[in-house]
Amino acid sequence: MTAPVLVINCGSSSIKYALIDADPEAPRLSGLAERIGTPEAQLKGKNSAGESFTLALPDAEHTQALKAILDSLEGRLPCAIGHRIVHGGERFTEAALIDESVLEAIERTAALAPLHNPANLAGIAATRKLFPQLPQVAVFDTAFHQTLPPHAYRYALPQALYAQHGIRRYGFHGTSHAYVSQRTAHLSARGAGGWLTAHLGNGCSTCAVWNDQSQDTSMGLTPLEGLVMGTRSGDVDPGLHAHLNRQLGWSLDKIDAVLNKESGLLGLSGLTNDMREVEEQAEAGHEGAQLALDVFCYRIAKSLAALSCALPQLDGVIFTGGIGENSPIVRRRVIALLPHFGFALDPAANEATIRGREGKLDAPDHAGPEVWVIPTDEEGRIADETRHCLEPHQ
Ligand code: ADP
Repeated sequence: MTAPVLVINCGSSSIKYALIDADPEAPRLSGLAERIGTPEAQLKGKNSAGESFTLALPDAEHTQALKAILDSLEGRLPCAIGHRIVHGGERFTEAALIDESVLEAIERTAALAPLHNPANLAGIAATRKLFPQLPQVAVFDTAFHQTLPPHAYRYALPQALYAQHGIRRYGFHGTSHAYVSQRTAHLSARGAGGWLTAHLGNGCSTCAVWNDQSQDTSMGLTPLEGLVMGTRSGDVDPGLHAHLNRQLGWSLDKIDAVLNKESGLLGLSGLTNDMREVEEQAEAGHEGAQLALDVFCYRIAKSLAALSCALPQLDGVIFTGGIGENSPIVRRRVIALLPHFGFALDPAANEATIRGREGKLDAPDHAGPEVWVIPTDEEGRIADETRHCLEPHQ
């Protein structure tokens, strides 16, 4: 399969896309249709010469936005479409060729991801209409974590909640954790041993990977569990909901909105969900920003230390995502909070490894566990999984 794969990440009001050739060196056409369904809908992208373009698409719905994406592909027709699907429940342990039974299963899982799966399904419906002849593949954020053992994925809740309602830990960002751990296993002399990965973007999660398999991860039933994120609280006392309801009269919807949209870096700093601004303001002496940075880094270190229990041996830690790839401050502070693990960060390598660079940050001659930065490539990985899924069908 040498023709490119079109990767689609469809949200309720946005569609991210990338046209990815089999040759990893070939330039990618990529972009984002945003504010879909509003008068301000637009398509922003990059052409093969790397030039940016913006196209107004007033009131465009998903199908019209996808049609505009298709028109922007400079006549290059994909051989398949790979869809990012947030939740695959327990049914999907790997990518799946989309047919009626797969669609039904994704619909059934929508109760576990009510904000995401219906939007992903809308994207599949629109691409099937536009490209009825092309194979379409679903690549799940949860699939990589289906290797978690029961002691890592079960909550200590009545058994029936798991057996009848699927209440368990699923984990997310699987495409990213899988990509960066396998890339590191390829680059490091240590190979596929025990790696801790930290995906730090607007959403943040950690993962323990042994021999290319996820053993535990910080996100759970929903992407709210675990680390402090841009606007998400991460872990709170499970008694918090009852407390806020009884003491402040807050409804479940209000509590859900506060924990998902008004908390995290934004809530702690009182300023912003953007780490660049948090770092600038913390440097300038803003106490809320300093606290946000302190809590953010401490929780990452605490999570990595906890997840190390899932590994028989620790070969190193891998940073990725917008913050993990670009913030020497966060990396330095997280590693400083783990002195008993025997990491040794080289300050110059830490400062220099930003803006898409990959590499090992260790001090010279260091023999202990390694520290790596690997820019994530979720779209490239989705394209690879799409090709892999189709191989037997060609
Ligand atoms: P998403 O999860 O939406 O894909 P990204 O992976 O792009 O998001 O990460 C976005 C985060 O990365 C933001 O908090 C942003 O401030 C942060 N970030 C980007 N560049 C830098 C930088 N140079 N220093 C610190 N944080 C950065």
